[in-house]
Amino acid sequence: MHVRSNSGGGPAEKSRLSPPPVAREARPSPLGEPHVASATLTTRQRGILEVFQKANGPLTPQEVWELGRADLPGVGLATVYRAIRKLVETGQLRQVEIADSLPRYECAAKPHHHHFRCVQCGRIVEIPKCPPRLDDLVPRGFKLLDHSIILYGLCDQCMAASA
Ligand SMILES: [Zn+2]
Ligand SMILES: [Zn+2]
Repeated sequence: MHVRSNSGGGPAEKSRLSPPPVAREARPSPLGEPHVASATLTTRQRGILEVFQKANGPLTPQEVWELGRADLPGVGLATVYRAIRKLVETGQLRQVEIADSLPRYECAAKPHHHHFRCVQCGRIVEIPKCPPRLDDLVPRGFKLLDHSIILYGLCDQCMAASA
């Protein structure tokens, strides 16, 4: 007896208009037990999540693999891809969309921040600060709801290499 869902097999299609609802706070956990999703992660998936938690910018799967190699012996790039997919499904990672960049991911729990992209090496680093007085830029009669800022330039490593 085959019962198939009508969702097909392609999780790659992502709706930009309807982000997944975040209902974590709606279900208080009186015993302080860990979030259900993290409890179902394998040791490797937790290790890969830790690489993201230590990073100071969104990472490509390749970068995760390179950064995690020492702590995650025997983990191949395919495992990293699978783990990232799983961590996006469980809401622990989110995709960061930056033009001219490979798909990158960061911890979904990160507070509001912005990014600096090195135009030479492609590295993307987090900027924790937010510029003041953005309201001054908003056209008259408009209402500002959200913003995202990407600065472009040369990173410290590329600056040092060219010095
Ligand atoms: Zn650079
Ligand atoms: Zn901001």
